[in-house]
Amino acid sequence: MKQGKKMMLTGILLLAFLLGGCNAFSEIRGPESDHTQEIQADHTEENGEHSDFETSSETPEESDVTEAVEETGAAAPTEEIPIESCDEDMETPGMMEPEYRYIEANDMVYAWVRLNVRTSESTQSDILGVLEVGEAVNRTGIHEEWTRVVYQGQTAFVATEYISEIKPEPETAESTAAAVASEGTGIYYDNGGYLVAIDPGHQGKGNSDKEPVGPGASEMKAKVSSGTQGVVTGIPEHEMNLVISLYLRDELLARGYSVLMIRETADVDISNAERAELANSCNSDIFVRIHGNSVSNQEIHGALTMCMTQNNPYNGNLYMPSKTLSQLVVDYLCAATGAVNKGILETDTMSGINWCKIPVTIVEVGFMSNPKEDQAMAEDDYRRAMAKGIADGIDAYFGR
Ligand SMILES: [Zn+2]
Repeated sequence: MKQGKKMMLTGILLLAFLLGGCNAFSEIRGPESDHTQEIQADHTEENGEHSDFETSSETPEESDVTEAVEETGAAAPTEEIPIESCDEDMETPGMMEPEYRYIEANDMVYAWVRLNVRTSESTQSDILGVLEVGEAVNRTGIHEEWTRVVYQGQTAFVATEYISEIKPEPETAESTAAAVASEGTGIYYDNGGYLVAIDPGHQGKGNSDKEPVGPGASEMKAKVSSGTQGVVTGIPEHEMNLVISLYLRDELLARGYSVLMIRETADVDISNAERAELANSCNSDIFVRIHGNSVSNQEIHGALTMCMTQNNPYNGNLYMPSKTLSQLVVDYLCAATGAVNKGILETDTMSGINWCKIPVTIVEVGFMSNPKEDQAMAEDDYRRAMAKGIADGIDAYFGR
């Protein structure tokens, strides 16, 4: 139940956020995604979104991932919130059923998550069915904890916190469901100044479900992968990305920026497209995605950045600012660390770029497939230097 309450809060925050904008909250959670990849400039092959070419390790995890996702989904989006946890401790359930005084109603309400429809006001009661996100149901009684509805011709009950008189937009509904299922995403630091959305690439467990590679695209790609790992250190990419991103966050906050962190933990499930949309929806000024690269040739090393081409069908209009941002970031990054500057890779294959409505860059900070660079990037001082260099590039982009 505690978890339920938290999810409820998340849903409310997200709803309020969607209606009112990010600035209202010091912390918001939402969906979004991303991922990225790492591509080496002369590499034409691509694995979805990310680019770590050496991603063979993802496949074996897929079944687990799906299971985990379903589990999370069930815990959160599908469930309602029990009212009294002490009910479970009662030895004689049924003897003291709480009374629910309903305000009479006769209107339509909509599910904001996948929601169980129950025979009575208890999570122990039988499930008559499940409302899909956005599905309407006729409400006959209003109560703050349970809502009485008519479902398939009979009286039934759903958890009030997961329904609304407002019908969620398809995209919003999906995002809301993701948000409810996903803890630790969309953390907002209001500090005035420009808002920089930072996406620490990947997450602990990949999600091999598919999503469109761009708005309206028929081409699908895996939502997000777990990333590559250090060839010598064995450090998972998602872990390194997060540490660098946290240093970058602190560096930017110290310089007077506001920051939106797409995630601050490995335990999230947020697709690449969702990450971009989260950045979009918060009116971020730029979106900076942090990744580690990997290719089969272990001699290749250096940093590069990525942006869309000017012919990108989804957001080609963002090419110039994105290219400028990418150029400045890779230049300052390499100046700060001494890494080889491999320049900008323009690509339209990244969902986390294609879904963006703001200038974006993917920063491939170095090659985890190169033994020396892998070991350097495992050092705390080097990580801080990378963060500082990226922040210098962001400063230059904003003319500071
Ligand atoms: Zn990556």
